[in-house]
Amino acid sequence: MGNDGLHRALIVVVSGPGGVGKDTIVSRLAQRGAGLRRSRSWTTRPRRPGESDDAYRFVNRADFERHVQEGGFLEWVEYLGHLYGTPSPPVNSGPEAEDLVLVIEVEGAATVLRKVPGARMILVVPPSPEVLADRMRARGDDERHVADRVARAVEEEGVGRRLAHDVVVNEDLDRAVEEMAGILERYRAERASSAE
Ligand code: 5GP
Repeated sequence: MGNDGLHRALIVVVSGPGGVGKDTIVSRLAQRGAGLRRSRSWTTRPRRPGESDDAYRFVNRADFERHVQEGGFLEWVEYLGHLYGTPSPPVNSGPEAEDLVLVIEVEGAATVLRKVPGARMILVVPPSPEVLADRMRARGDDERHVADRVARAVEEEGVGRRLAHDVVVNEDLDRAVEEMAGILERYRAERASSAE
């Protein structure tokens, strides 16, 4: 809290390869009432069977591109044939502001770190590429895309490790949730002491 009563929301980018479990970890934290708000991305990817309607704002390419033209995204990328973007502005302000979490891939994370001073990044990585491939199959990813996505994940991990402030290995979900909760507490403490 600053002296003016306005709370400057912390922006935390949680990144890592698709299928690594970053969404699950963040959902668990949000359910606990950890004072987090998730940014809802736009995508041109079709909804997966069983995927919630508000997982994304599902749009067609023309609508997405129009929003790009209008400057409506803080960042956006083309990822394995589909467009994904974080709507702008991602920040809410005022006394009720909650910390905002963006769950996005690594290229978008780099853009957010460049554009938003003070943003923090946590990289979530799998214990191994084989475990990641199994998780992708388990959530219903098309088998033809699994090899591509795993190859992309290995690249992303290399880039992400150079950018991230913290790394969480998602081997055991409960442990990963606890680790991320601890990291968020630390970021909040750092922000509180820098605001004094
Ligand atoms: P999926 O198709 O598996 O839902 O998402 C593919 C990848 O895109 C995941 O790594 C996911 O976190 C990432 N992603 C989702 N929304 C955004 C976004 O708004 N921007 C960026 N850069 N990546 C996103």
